[in-house]
Amino acid sequence: MTAVRKRKRSRRKKWKRIKRRILAWTVRILVLTVIAAVPVLAVRGSFALWNSLLGGQEAIFFGAKTIEETQRDPGALLIVLDAGHGGKDQGTCAGDILEKDINLSVVKKLAQKLEKRGAAVILTRDEDVKIDLEDRAKLANKEKADIFVSIHCNYYEKDAGIRGLECYYREGSADGEELAERILEEFRKEAVENRGTKTANYRVLRKTDMPAVLVELGYMSNSEECRKLGEEDYQDFLAEKIAAGIF
Ligand code: ZN
Repeated sequence: MTAVRKRKRSRRKKWKRIKRRILAWTVRILVLTVIAAVPVLAVRGSFALWNSLLGGQEAIFFGAKTIEETQRDPGALLIVLDAGHGGKDQGTCAGDILEKDINLSVVKKLAQKLEKRGAAVILTRDEDVKIDLEDRAKLANKEKADIFVSIHCNYYEKDAGIRGLECYYREGSADGEELAERILEEFRKEAVENRGTKTANYRVLRKTDMPAVLVELGYMSNSEECRKLGEEDYQDFLAEKIAAGIF
């Protein structure tokens, strides 16, 4: 065998070895990919199965709760109620009376009253948890709510004499203004002290796609109004009037 043929043969052998190595590594990578994918697909699959068993309800975000979501009438007016603040964000306060608690209490009463009138209600929170403002609006948009109502209490440190309910809507929203006017009208009828309807650039009003209002139930900086806001009976009265304004 000539030296040239020998060289050629050893080059061919070397090339064969390289090809075998490439093949072996390709097979190894494929096997490892399959092994890694199995648990991921298994977890995803069981989630999908779990969701379909639960009627396809999709988790929106932590803290969002719906009332009787499985029994929701698709033709009913869908209202998202938003109890302002929650969790570490307690809103304003007077002594041991916290705004976040008043807001939630009124929202729960309002939800019951609206459901009795045939509405479907979703709460941005039904417990003491902190929820991002953006997520509150996102929830209403995602659920394609017909109306969004946020409940808050006010505070004005410079003048404890200031009191009265206020109803805010987004500037330029004719439907929001009408809703705010209708709610306030119910309080005017009862001669409840109020400071009228106003426009505001609050994020929950700005980021919601539907008619949206933010009701400031009263001033916690006014001792008389604060005492009333903490009372169950007055909260029930407030919820009744807001419900009457919506329907
Ligand atoms: Zn507030």
